[in-house]
Amino acid sequence: MTLMTERAVNDIVQERRLVTAIPGPASLAMHARKTAAVSAGVGVMLPVYVTRAGGGILVDADGNSLIDLGSGIAVTTVGNANPDVVAGVQAQVEAFTHTCFMVTPYAGYVEVCEALNRLTPGDHEKRSALFNSGAEAVENAVKVARLATGRAAVVVFEHGYHGRTNLTMGLTAKNMPYKQGFGPFAPEIYRVPTSYPFRDRGLSGPELAAMAITRIEKEIGAGNVAAILIEPLQGEGGFIAPAPGFLPALVDFARANGIVFISDEIQSGFCRTGQWFASEHEGIVPDLITTAKGIAGGMPLAGVTGRAELMDAVHAGGLGGTYGGNPVACAGALGAIRWMEDNDAPAIARDIQATVMPRLRALQAAHPAIGDVRGRGAMLAVELVVPGTMEPDAARTSAVSAHCHAAGVVTLTTGTYGNVLRFLPPLSIPQHLLEEAFDVVAEAFDATA
Ligand SMILES: *Cc1c(COP(=O)(O)O)cnc(C)c1O
Repeated sequence: MTLMTERAVNDIVQERRLVTAIPGPASLAMHARKTAAVSAGVGVMLPVYVTRAGGGILVDADGNSLIDLGSGIAVTTVGNANPDVVAGVQAQVEAFTHTCFMVTPYAGYVEVCEALNRLTPGDHEKRSALFNSGAEAVENAVKVARLATGRAAVVVFEHGYHGRTNLTMGLTAKNMPYKQGFGPFAPEIYRVPTSYPFRDRGLSGPELAAMAITRIEKEIGAGNVAAILIEPLQGEGGFIAPAPGFLPALVDFARANGIVFISDEIQSGFCRTGQWFASEHEGIVPDLITTAKGIAGGMPLAGVTGRAELMDAVHAGGLGGTYGGNPVACAGALGAIRWMEDNDAPAIARDIQATVMPRLRALQAAHPAIGDVRGRGAMLAVELVVPGTMEPDAARTSAVSAHCHAAGVVTLTTGTYGNVLRFLPPLSIPQHLLEEAFDVVAEAFDATA
């Protein structure tokens, strides 16, 4: 055993170690209780019941140690139970747990908003508001845009994902599992084509933006549009970065027509992609930006940040919620943000890309089922097709992922066609675990060939 494998993070040995089948008997017993107690509507991808986590490891109820390539869906970017997050949360939870910011406020909320205003793209005057979930942030960004413009229409894009509340289901593209049977959805939502370079048939970003803009002008009318809402790097849609020039053209169109441009950075934000926010890769400055997931190291928190004149257009009491910007969640966010700044987290994400990207390209050279390798920073993916075609291969994708799970590597799948294997390691993962995890991914491709 090398020194590296003995290195402990949060006292968890940074080593993949399986002592039972995955899932083991203790997890299976708990899963039987889950089936009896929890709504079947709340699905579980991999029923290993976690007892501890840190660094790059999840420990389960049977004592197995699995390598985490999911970060709880891009949430524990700073690592699970990150010491800075834990210290902030512990101090806050002992001081007080809740007052409701709208009743008797506290500094942590203000400090998180100051950090958001400072760190998000653009040096214009900004304001922020805090919420509990990504979906709630998106809903509130739409509220602000509608009130500030006096317009109703919201433009969204193919493959977009924005949440599971009624408005955000309507904003989301994919039917199963998110929307099926849950309608009717809110009105004044219009979906237009996006850029998906692997499937763009050679069209350029500006050409594709022109097509989307024509749709907006002909089918909605630019003067009726409150907001254009888009993820600068689509998450659930399949880790799709649009072709260069696509987003800048949309931002120019929005600005020329008094439309609020909202960048949904709930998955791509907070250093995940090798910049603080993915909008920076595209050279765009959004009017409003939504954040959540990576913001607070696992504590539930979300934000809307944007131009002061938009955010301050709302009457007092128009935004908020009982728990929004909970003091414990804010303390977690301040710890997570401090860790990201102190450790140059965007550079860590770029280092992860430098390790993983060449391995994925080598894998693609060996396996014609890998049609595309893409992503940025620690948000990387491969898209699987039937070799020699563009036809999505969801079955092989599931098989590869299942092989990884059985071998103790937590991988996630995604994409409109269910044929994308996505990798979201925590930035705290030690290098040897990162390398080992992709050895397992390579074995999984060999085993399922
Ligand atoms: C996860 C996600 C949401 C919804 O966030 P929740 O916290 O699950 O409500 C919205 N937009 C994007 C881009 C996301 O990835």
